[in-house]
Amino acid sequence: MTRPSRVIIDKSALKHNLQLVKKLTHNSKIMAIVKADAYGHGLVRVAKTLQDADAFGVSCLEEAEKLREANILLPIVLLEGPHEIIELSRIQELDLDVIIHSSNQISMLEHTNSKKKIQIWLKIDTGMHRLGLSPFEFKEAMKRLEACSNVKNGINIMTHLATANEINHPLVTQQFNIFINLCKNIELKKTIANSAAIINSSKFHLDWVRPGLMLYGVSPIKGETAIKYGLKSVMTLESELISVKNLNKGDSIGYGATWCCPKNMPIGIIAVGYGDGFPRHAKTGTPVLVNGVRCSLIGRASMDMLTVDLSNQAHAKIGDKVVLWGGELPIEEVAEHAETIPYELLCSVHKRLMFIEKN
Ligand SMILES: *Cc1c(COP(=O)(O)O)cnc(C)c1O
Repeated sequence: MTRPSRVIIDKSALKHNLQLVKKLTHNSKIMAIVKADAYGHGLVRVAKTLQDADAFGVSCLEEAEKLREANILLPIVLLEGPHEIIELSRIQELDLDVIIHSSNQISMLEHTNSKKKIQIWLKIDTGMHRLGLSPFEFKEAMKRLEACSNVKNGINIMTHLATANEINHPLVTQQFNIFINLCKNIELKKTIANSAAIINSSKFHLDWVRPGLMLYGVSPIKGETAIKYGLKSVMTLESELISVKNLNKGDSIGYGATWCCPKNMPIGIIAVGYGDGFPRHAKTGTPVLVNGVRCSLIGRASMDMLTVDLSNQAHAKIGDKVVLWGGELPIEEVAEHAETIPYELLCSVHKRLMFIEKN
């Protein structure tokens, strides 16, 4: 008997979400973002399921290598570009696209001997102040890149928004205007939109969109769940009750004895904890489904176990099914109770859990 905790990955939901992005964005091409092991869903599994995308975005060479080894032939974009000049020959060998975000990276292209051509995505920092060349460096950068014999014709240009999930934030418009002004009258393929920007306005769609979170069926917009946009949750984290007991008023629960029963009540123990990636900071009151019914977590999360109030599931017994997130229980809600974001919960799911694909 293995530990009764597992991660279900719903591949048809993944495909559904990609089709929804296609419908929303019409003629834009789609770079499906699969960095961080496809937001915890399994890099190769997700890429194989999303063959209708136009490209994949990954954060590093190791991730790109895994995709090529799995016979993924679509374009793959290294979102941080080359970190060292020695990576370039491997990038050429695997026919990868690279983001170029610094003058230092342009120098790498200038100083490598191999002539095999690379597709470049030039990243401009329009106000997020993470990666990217400043708008003032743009022209010079283009000139240098176009002079490189190993750069493909038709450089793409991109930027990334810092506040796309807050539609009324002034920085969104500011970044958008800087970007559009910079590349007007230039025949370049342009891309700006992550999931939040895709949902918020069609003006961000341009030639390419770069959805991540929404592909996994999760809302990038604060205070909203994905159901509102017709997205289907891809990951379900589920487990079982491994113990059920009746406690007395005043009995304390778990480490630190931080929570005490306000009445005589039934409680259950779930076989998932922070060692599986469940957030340790999930507060008392965080919802879980027991036999499909909403119940509340109580006390502190342990490494391998959680405690749940079974007051409204008086007949629950050992072996009954528990859902920690996914399906009827939006991960957005769980994230809020843990004072984090769904991105972090998805990425943190531990690989020791059993992953089961559902078609
Ligand atoms: C991660 C990432 C995305 C996807 O962001 P989501 O909010 O998950 O849609 C898009 N573009 C770049 C450059 C990224 O790094």
